[in-house]
Amino acid sequence: MDITTPKGTYDIIPDEVDPSLMWRQSYLWHYVETIFSKNAKNFGFDEIRTPLFERTELFKRGVGEGSDIVSKEMYTFDDKGGRSMTLRPEMTASVMRAFVEKSLHNISSVHKLFYIGPMFRYDRPQAGRYRQFFQFGVEAIGNACPEQDAEVIDLLFSICKDLGLNNLMLNINSVGDKESRANFSQALKEFLTPKKDKLSLDSQNRLLNNTLRILDSKDPKDHEALIGAPSLNDFLNEESKENFAKVLRLLDSLEIPYHINEKLVRGLDYYNKTVFELTTSSTGSQNAIGGGGRYDGLMKTLGGQDLPSVGFAIGIERILQAMIQQNVDLPAKPSADLYIIALGDLASNFAFKLTHDMRKASKIVEMDFSSKKLKDRLKIADQRRAKKVLIIGDDELKNNKAELKDMLLRTSQEVSLSSIKDSFL
Ligand code: AMP
Repeated sequence: MDITTPKGTYDIIPDEVDPSLMWRQSYLWHYVETIFSKNAKNFGFDEIRTPLFERTELFKRGVGEGSDIVSKEMYTFDDKGGRSMTLRPEMTASVMRAFVEKSLHNISSVHKLFYIGPMFRYDRPQAGRYRQFFQFGVEAIGNACPEQDAEVIDLLFSICKDLGLNNLMLNINSVGDKESRANFSQALKEFLTPKKDKLSLDSQNRLLNNTLRILDSKDPKDHEALIGAPSLNDFLNEESKENFAKVLRLLDSLEIPYHINEKLVRGLDYYNKTVFELTTSSTGSQNAIGGGGRYDGLMKTLGGQDLPSVGFAIGIERILQAMIQQNVDLPAKPSADLYIIALGDLASNFAFKLTHDMRKASKIVEMDFSSKKLKDRLKIADQRRAKKVLIIGDDELKNNKAELKDMLLRTSQEVSLSSIKDSFL
């Protein structure tokens, strides 16, 4: 077939035969998404859904024109009305937009929101990096206190623990408030400008508008140029320092392991104070499962109230890949509790209604519609991993009887049709 999925995208399907692609099976997605939302609800977060595309201006203002996302990776197009639209590359800006647009601050001064959905970034596809990928994320709006930062990180760990993930490490840092950040950024710019030629091409471009981002670079040339550079920590004011120390004390009290990484600034412009990234040893070069931090000025930038916020986003692909690499116990794919095969017209009519009734008892019940030989129909039941098969013939029906096969034990017994209904309903 010459029409295939666009580069950097993939299908999530019920059965995947290639073991390295097992993470693309839809029942596993359903499983992790259930764990995400269950944990988020336990922590008092409510779901928010926003459009997959927004006005381009939202991301330019909300994410920042100097960021890689906005400068290089957005799927931007003009709609038929000539308006510039962008497929959302992340959701924080969209959540803030919705909050401001719906004046949610009038309903409550604190809002805790979670989302699950696809994001789009035009990046070079590789393992763990796609052009359409899925994120689960949260935004806690309205609290500026360190407890809120620690609660959000606690939720992140609670999810990972429920999913059975191991070898997790939280890299954490404080980028200070706006003033500390600006002072540090200026000092770094002054330190690096004379060494501009020694920087990678990407970092040379970042020097002017996104200087802090150079700290995140993986290029050895940049690492060398940064030797002896001023430290962000020295520029934090007392309030930022105290705030960060309190976040760490709270994490200690919850026994959440972390590593203070002074070079961590995160890629987006809107962060202040706490920033963090969660890594695992099992996802190779793309080892960040998720990240987040505080962005107190963002809502105001988008024309709303000056409400503080903190949140994170995790990539569902990388979570599932890590689970599989770590051999985490995965749930079995749900399959039919009962597979009904009717032999004859009368039996078929009866079985059709019986199938309908059985489903009311929340059982997974399937009916075989083929007119193949019994042997072949049993083969289909096996392929569909049915636990039990009920075979009803016209003659048996007259006597209210049927044959019930246990497909796991490979046994079979005669049952009365009224009792089979009772045992399920
Ligand atoms: P970010 O929004 O860039 O902070 O990313 C948060 C998380 O989303 C990352 O740690 C990844 O798990 C996931 N993520 C970001 N970009 C991609 C991508 N292109 N493909 C797959 N996952 C991604």
